[in-house]
Amino acid sequence: MAFKLDKSATAFAEAKRYIPGGVNSPVRSFRGVGGTPPFIAKAAGSHIFDIDGNKYIDYVGSWGPMILGHAHPEVIAELSDALQRGTSYGAPTLLETELARLITEAVPSMELVRFVNSGTEATMSVLRLARAYTQRNKIVKFAGCYHGHHDSLLVKAGSGATTLGVPDSPGVPDTIAGNTITVEYNDAQALTTVFERHGQDIAAVIIEPVPGNMGLILPRPGYLEQVRALTEKYGALLIFDEVMSGFRVAYGGAQELYDITPDLTCLGKVIGGGLPVGAYGGRRDIMEHIAPAGPVYQAGTLSGNPLAMTAGLATLRLIAQNPDFYEKLTSMTTALCAGVQAQALAFGFNFQFHQVGSMFGIFFTDKPVYDYNSAKRSDVGAFNTFFHAMLEQGVYLAPSQFEAAFMSSAHTHTDIGATIAASGNAFARVA
Ligand code: PLP
Repeated sequence: MAFKLDKSATAFAEAKRYIPGGVNSPVRSFRGVGGTPPFIAKAAGSHIFDIDGNKYIDYVGSWGPMILGHAHPEVIAELSDALQRGTSYGAPTLLETELARLITEAVPSMELVRFVNSGTEATMSVLRLARAYTQRNKIVKFAGCYHGHHDSLLVKAGSGATTLGVPDSPGVPDTIAGNTITVEYNDAQALTTVFERHGQDIAAVIIEPVPGNMGLILPRPGYLEQVRALTEKYGALLIFDEVMSGFRVAYGGAQELYDITPDLTCLGKVIGGGLPVGAYGGRRDIMEHIAPAGPVYQAGTLSGNPLAMTAGLATLRLIAQNPDFYEKLTSMTTALCAGVQAQALAFGFNFQFHQVGSMFGIFFTDKPVYDYNSAKRSDVGAFNTFFHAMLEQGVYLAPSQFEAAFMSSAHTHTDIGATIAASGNAFARVA
């Protein structure tokens, strides 16, 4: 049967009448790769199903949260149960304490945890805390790292290794962007230079320890240690944005994997089991500045929502029950990457395959990729051709060269075999 997206195309046109661009988050529109985004009707295990009747092996996993796959029966059972008790109370629950306890046990640098509703809220709030605690205003971020869509962090590098705040979007005031310094990832010398110039004004360095928002980039050996040492030397706080890597690359996140202790950490995605959640936490003496324990204000009508806490708790408990969880997930991901890479090589493509645990990505370039500039050398046109060929064969990848892919524990060897076979046909299309 020929691949068709007629119903999705109609739905997309209708959505555009009521929603800007027809979507509630830009990348979903397929703006980068072109074509019609499938409108999703349901998901189960490793698969999603669109309203046209197409079935896909899903490597987006709702952009990271679905580490157990979709509609995991035990998560759904606990959620159904919780639903009967109401959807939101705006008052404390046992669930919040329990999820906070699980997180502090898994990520020991997080001595206290505050729940919010998204990763954006987590990074936005953590910056206010860092500024209040250090009584400094400047923030350092890395080009190509994404921390959500609030003003301070919607800033990228201009030309050169270090650039003082260039807003990434109209509407971000220069006065705010001017407090954000952007540096290339994996370049310890550039960060050193920034600290030499601005060290006394820098409140915090915020970093995705494993960047997954410019495609998947790996930290060079020793790099994260250098970032830790520099922040310590200049009295700036180190914030690990583990919204994507938390409970994904290891139970204790990238900080466990690379054995680095940040001062503050942001979480999201997996800890909400597919419901809207974010969290930030860290050293007790810093976190105690948050209201009502301290003077730094931050609040939320739905924060710590009982359904979100339930889905998060169910997810983390299911992971923790299985001592081989990450090992298995990693070996499945390694098998997939090796198979797809062999297909690429068969067509003469020496592309860059990156993997950390169950996160992976391919850069369509034969040159090494280690930061935003090198990522941008990828052949986006070739990626787009590959992407559509995969979609048509029932493999759903993120619709952009500059996004990571995710394996879930619901993916099977059959899924992997089918994906590798599809990739051979897709590389043939690119060649
Ligand atoms: N931080 C990182 C590392 C992310 O990957 C994302 C989203 O993809 C965010 C923050 C923002 O999270 P949210 O989309 O939940 O606001």
